[in-house]
Amino acid sequence: MQRSDIINLAAGPSQLPLQVLEQAALGLLNYEGTGIGITELSHRSPEFKALTDSLENSIRTILDVPQTHSILFVQGGGCGQFSAVVYNLLARHYLLYPDLKGEERVADYVVTGSWSKKAAEEARMIAASCGARVNVVADARENSQSGKSFEGVPSHDKWKFSAAPAYIYYCENETVDGVQFSDDLQSPASFPFSSLPASPDGAAPIPLVGDHSSSFLSRPIPNLSQHALIYAGAQKNLGPSGLTVLIVRKDLLVDTVAASKLGAPVTPTMLAYKTYADAASLPNTPPMFSMYVSLLAVKFYLERGGLAALRQRNEAKQRKVYEVLDEGVAAGLFHGNVQAASRSWMNVTFTLSSPELEKAFITVAQEKGLRGVKGHRSVGGIRLSLYNAVSEDQVDIVVALVRQFIQERST
Ligand code: PLP
Repeated sequence: MQRSDIINLAAGPSQLPLQVLEQAALGLLNYEGTGIGITELSHRSPEFKALTDSLENSIRTILDVPQTHSILFVQGGGCGQFSAVVYNLLARHYLLYPDLKGEERVADYVVTGSWSKKAAEEARMIAASCGARVNVVADARENSQSGKSFEGVPSHDKWKFSAAPAYIYYCENETVDGVQFSDDLQSPASFPFSSLPASPDGAAPIPLVGDHSSSFLSRPIPNLSQHALIYAGAQKNLGPSGLTVLIVRKDLLVDTVAASKLGAPVTPTMLAYKTYADAASLPNTPPMFSMYVSLLAVKFYLERGGLAALRQRNEAKQRKVYEVLDEGVAAGLFHGNVQAASRSWMNVTFTLSSPELEKAFITVAQEKGLRGVKGHRSVGGIRLSLYNAVSEDQVDIVVALVRQFIQERST
């Protein structure tokens, strides 16, 4: 089987354009004429320092990251950040407001799917160690027909923020459930987090934290500067797993050791953001190969029109796929789980009207060269992931195939 024989619609880990992979293969053997492969080079060498700087600069350029924010490269994946966010943001809160009692410290979580649910659970566990707690601002399951599944971002007038949370957390695209914050809400004026509660002293806005792991570099983030932290595991549109990118406002780079003396949970050194900021992201051996491939990918995107061009392509791709999905719904064969306003551009999820039909769909997809169409093991159904590496031509083939499946089974 050749790469050209298949269309990979898997939700991850990594999905990268062929040209990027071809270049990466060369660098694995001989990085930029050094005669040494990228994974064999010293991470303290001038060449790797230059690569790190270049990766930072190209991410700053493609996302238009202001100088108020640092860009840091860490390991531990998205799940690592579920913990790191709590440690660093609680440390900041203790340093700013040392006189508050533990129980007066609250972290606000908007739960719109499996990943934000997991992040909130982790936060609850860590926060409990100093008496702090988690407030669920909204839980998308309360709006669903079954009361169990995540079917859309709850309407904003139902959100219940705490009076003065230590931070507010959300997940921009829920990879498992196919729920995403709508592109229409991305401009700073319409962004639902634009009117956040004020800090106790009114001095700084409450820090907003966004998990952008599965939508990172799929479209611009116009409201980026309203965030205190955006993080993303590399392994969807950026590079191989192993690298996590943090875009972090500089007031979050706090002394976690000093905070622990005031009662904040003790932050492991390798989870403290300051550890990475102080060492220009190289406190220990970094995920060199992943950083290298990520740099190639960002350069590749920049050369082809950057995020505006990607937005246009990804918008067109998802529109075609949801169109045919709606035809399947109208024919009584498919059920689209996610409300129209929250449909993910990256992960299209749906179920079929019977287990037999679902099995038939998966068999046809497999025969025709589609890969990775099964839904996440926790929710079942079908998931078609449309990351940057999936071309519009491939989407056209997928759409034609789904349309034929519907027509052949419609009565
Ligand atoms: N957050 C989101 C939105 C994800 O899609 C994932 C994984 O797919 C994670 C967090 C967890 O990332 P990791 O597997 O790198 O820990």
